[in-house]
Amino acid sequence: MRTRLMLLLVGIAVSALVFSHGHAQTQPSQAAHRFQPIAPGVYSAIATGTLNVGSNSCVVVNQDDVLIVDSHISPESARVLIRELKSITDKPVRFLVNTHFHFDHANGNQVFTAPVDIIGHEFTRRKLLGDVLAKGTIFAESLAALPNQIEQLKQRAAAEQDAAAKARLDQQVRVQQAYADQVKEVKPTPPSVTLNDHMTLFRGDREIRLIHLGRAHTAGDVVVFLPKERVVCTGDMLVAGISNLSDGYVNEWPDTVEKLRALDFTDVIPGHGEPWKGKEKLDHWQAYLRDIWQQASKLHDQKVPAAEAAKRIDMTAHKNHYPTITAPGVAPIGVVRMYDVMERRAEQN
Ligand SMILES: [Zn+2]
Ligand SMILES: [Zn+2]
Repeated sequence: MRTRLMLLLVGIAVSALVFSHGHAQTQPSQAAHRFQPIAPGVYSAIATGTLNVGSNSCVVVNQDDVLIVDSHISPESARVLIRELKSITDKPVRFLVNTHFHFDHANGNQVFTAPVDIIGHEFTRRKLLGDVLAKGTIFAESLAALPNQIEQLKQRAAAEQDAAAKARLDQQVRVQQAYADQVKEVKPTPPSVTLNDHMTLFRGDREIRLIHLGRAHTAGDVVVFLPKERVVCTGDMLVAGISNLSDGYVNEWPDTVEKLRALDFTDVIPGHGEPWKGKEKLDHWQAYLRDIWQQASKLHDQKVPAAEAAKRIDMTAHKNHYPTITAPGVAPIGVVRMYDVMERRAEQN
């Protein structure tokens, strides 16, 4: 179980690197982001691999100011984001939106001081005011897994024959070692402005809708929707691969995605991975969630323990849409969470 959890957390920590290393050569060597234009003034800030940023940020450049969605995995990565923003605009950052409370999206919050408003769901504020380092939280688990993760990267680098692949692994070792230091200065900082349902910002001719569509990846997911540009930033409700289930409501998630579908968007900037166009991935993700919930429910009814259920759940039917699925078995942390939801233990969170 420990190994599976670690693999999952390694996945979260380096996913930005994995997704983006192919583009690194098009950037100046030190830049930590490339700003991919999605619509006029709207960018997806994607990691190049020189810094652990944890997750994507969306950047919305308005008439007089800038709104950023998600603050990255450390104060340092947030500072670098703000610095590198200068390559696309000299307007000041005025708003930060947290799509949810997870460390890879909110650890940079403390860098966004007044006059920046940090906006998020009331649940996100409650979580960030609580003990995010308590045992069992996704952040605490990721920190506990970090030394081993770095060791594994070192071993893979040492064993790698291909020079380019070895160089990439060496870079990941350096990046994760730096992250282990960078994360020490994190002081969880909650949103200063909260919403429960929705909120709309009007900045010049830009309309920015912040919407809580329902429980999904967490109890407080907020999507950022630009109706004129038909762009949506989804946080981890929808990512390029398989989203983490550890704080999710897998039974409610497909319905929330259905509400997302009702928004009139063309472009999706996900919490992790490359942006894409269209709504097909919503179908794939709903199908995955319904299947894993159904399988987990059946095993729960049969009183199969979560760790054993995680081995038995077979998601290989979805491997065409999610190439990381190579064999039966899923991350135990997601099954533990689904069991908690089934037994109503998740309600306290
Ligand atoms: Zn998340
Ligand atoms: Zn994330």
